[in-house]
Amino acid sequence: MNVRLTQIDGKLPNIALMKLAHWHRSRGDTVFLTRDLEPDLFEEKSDVVYGSTIFTASAKRTERLRRAFPDAIISGTGINPKTGGITVEQTIRSNSWNYENYDYSIYPEFDASIGFTQRGCRLKCKFCGVHTKEGKPISLNNISNVWRGEGHPKKLHLLDNDFFGQPDWRQVIAQIRLGGFKVCMSQGVNTRLINVEGAEALAGIEYRNTDFDKRQLYTAWDNIGDEAIFFRGIDILENAGIPGKHIMAYMLVGFDPKETWDRILHRYQRMRERQIMPYPMVFEDKTYPGDWRTLKHFQRWAIRLARSGNIAWRDYNPHMRAA
Ligand code: SF4
Repeated sequence: MNVRLTQIDGKLPNIALMKLAHWHRSRGDTVFLTRDLEPDLFEEKSDVVYGSTIFTASAKRTERLRRAFPDAIISGTGINPKTGGITVEQTIRSNSWNYENYDYSIYPEFDASIGFTQRGCRLKCKFCGVHTKEGKPISLNNISNVWRGEGHPKKLHLLDNDFFGQPDWRQVIAQIRLGGFKVCMSQGVNTRLINVEGAEALAGIEYRNTDFDKRQLYTAWDNIGDEAIFFRGIDILENAGIPGKHIMAYMLVGFDPKETWDRILHRYQRMRERQIMPYPMVFEDKTYPGDWRTLKHFQRWAIRLARSGNIAWRDYNPHMRAA
């Protein structure tokens, strides 16, 4: 059987597709990975087509794949859990998250190790499907299960959504420290729920960005109503030795029906005052009274231009090229 695995979005290797690659190859199937949403002239016909998407903002790309392959099995956190189809776990008939076999060969350039130590989340944010799909937090793997082993760099991408929600987090931290691993937790740690013990544990490990060349801890401030609890968590992190300049905070925009430009800029400014790097995530692109520019323009400015300090938001014209 010929199997097409389509990565619709995401920079990092896609775990669901790596699991599917492993499972199909173990059955003797031929597997190939592509980011192309439509087949090119020379693509062999596939018996099964999968697509995986992690961002709801990729809905148009997902639709393109669906148009090109109407029978494709498409899943992932980018799909509304209420409308999403069959999951990887259903495909490989595993009752739980326990099919922890990944085929790294579909990503030959990738040299780190990637995986989950836990699944699930303690919170139930309205815009997120993790609690619906995964439920309450459970421990899943220890570090020796995630790391590919001797001969591979000690660099781990942990994709946990609620690291400190798992019962075994202290053991996992001890394994990271003893093993001398660098760890990228790009899904973010939950600042709203962090406590002193958790913050000190984080301060004691080599937390890194996705390229592992910079100290970076990821978190999120999605709702203006969480201002006090978010900064309480930031204070705890700073007291433990993690400065604001090490923190990147995802900043959901376009979801709150009461959102305004003032509210967005307030959140942005409050974080910048603490040297935190805001990373806007656009739920739905739109604009608000008082500015013709859209949330995607704001995102582009915040990610690409604001960091250089050269262009203030009020002076930013998205139709002009940066000098
Ligand atoms: S804390 Fe994060 S993972 Fe948990 S429900 Fe909210 S957005 Fe989803």
